[in-house]
Amino acid sequence: MAGPRDRDQPLTIRPGGVVHSPPVSAVPVEHLDDLQAYAQAVAGCTRCRLAQGRTQVVFGSGSAHADLMFVGEAPGFHEDRQGVPFVGQAGKLLEQLLAGIGLSRQEVYIANTLKCRPPGNRDPQPDEIEACESHLFRQIELIEPTVVATLGNFATKLLSGRPLGITRVHGQEQQTTIGSRSVLLYPLYHPAAALYTPAMLKVLESDFARLPELLGRTPEPATALEPELALVAPQPPAEQLGLF
Ligand code: SF4
Repeated sequence: MAGPRDRDQPLTIRPGGVVHSPPVSAVPVEHLDDLQAYAQAVAGCTRCRLAQGRTQVVFGSGSAHADLMFVGEAPGFHEDRQGVPFVGQAGKLLEQLLAGIGLSRQEVYIANTLKCRPPGNRDPQPDEIEACESHLFRQIELIEPTVVATLGNFATKLLSGRPLGITRVHGQEQQTTIGSRSVLLYPLYHPAAALYTPAMLKVLESDFARLPELLGRTPEPATALEPELALVAPQPPAEQLGLF
């Protein structure tokens, strides 16, 4: 039976650029326990006003040992009801894009910048992002991905520590340090935005196709923390953010 993949070894790339990552069953139990314990702790979070209107906290889903992690914006109506991120049309598109590189959503980890649904699906507010960001940083520390693909402006600006919008930086990978973890940050258009804009969808598909190459790179060791990317992290820009 296959054991857990040595994280210092690159992923297996199948012919055609398809990525192979280990099944969830190969994840060490203690690793799952840590993530589940943290998810249970966050389930009762009342750090910001969004706690009042949510059905439940949408912590994240997928493999606790994923090499590829996606970070979107915030739960919508269906996510709030089901407790799972990306279950609507945008989620279907994400699954299609994953299938195109030989992955399923069970082999990656999917989370959001905010864990609770903003009322009426309005944009996250800066103070809500600030209140919730430590949950995301802790998730990244526990999952230890090598590539973090940010979907849209909110996650990209938060994790890059830069105010540049997704239209400027999509498809441009950036090695960065989050906590003690060196990760390759890879900004992508948000699938919800690409759903209704064919030109954006083409760009998203093209950017997505580079993921196997990025996952195949040998991870760089963590360097000294950049202040804006430390766990006590970046202040989101005061400007109103958007999906793109
Ligand atoms: S959005 Fe984040 S900080 Fe706000 S209540 Fe939900 S889990 Fe807590």
